[in-house]
Amino acid sequence: MHELSIAQSLLGIVLQEAARHGVSRVTKVAVKIGALASVVPSSLTFSFDMIKEGTVAAEAVLEIEQVPAMGVCHACGAEMDMSGLVAACPACGSKDIELSSGQELYVDHIEAE
Ligand SMILES: [Zn+2]
Repeated sequence: MHELSIAQSLLGIVLQEAARHGVSRVTKVAVKIGALASVVPSSLTFSFDMIKEGTVAAEAVLEIEQVPAMGVCHACGAEMDMSGLVAACPACGSKDIELSSGQELYVDHIEAE
C-alpha cells in the first residue's frame, strides 16, 4: 500500500519536528499533495490515523491541500493546466513546456501545543 509508506515518512518528519521543538501534542499536520503525485487523500488519512496512535501526533488531524498540475511555457511564459495531456503550449504552440507544479508531496506546516 503506497499511501502507508508515504504516511510513515510524513509521520517521521512530524515526530522529528515535534522533538526538535519540544512539543508534547501535535494538533494538526498540513500537507500539500500535487495532482500528479498519485496519492489518494482518503487512503493517506486512513494510513496516517492508523500509525499515529501512541505518538505525540496521536490527536493530530491530517489536513490535505491538493495542488493543481500547472505548466509553464519557456517560449512565451504562458501558464497552463497540465492535469490532462499537454503536448504543446496552447498560447504559442511551442513544445518547450515544463511542469511547474503538481508533483509535490510535503509537510507544509505543523500545529502543536
Ligand atoms: Zn507558449
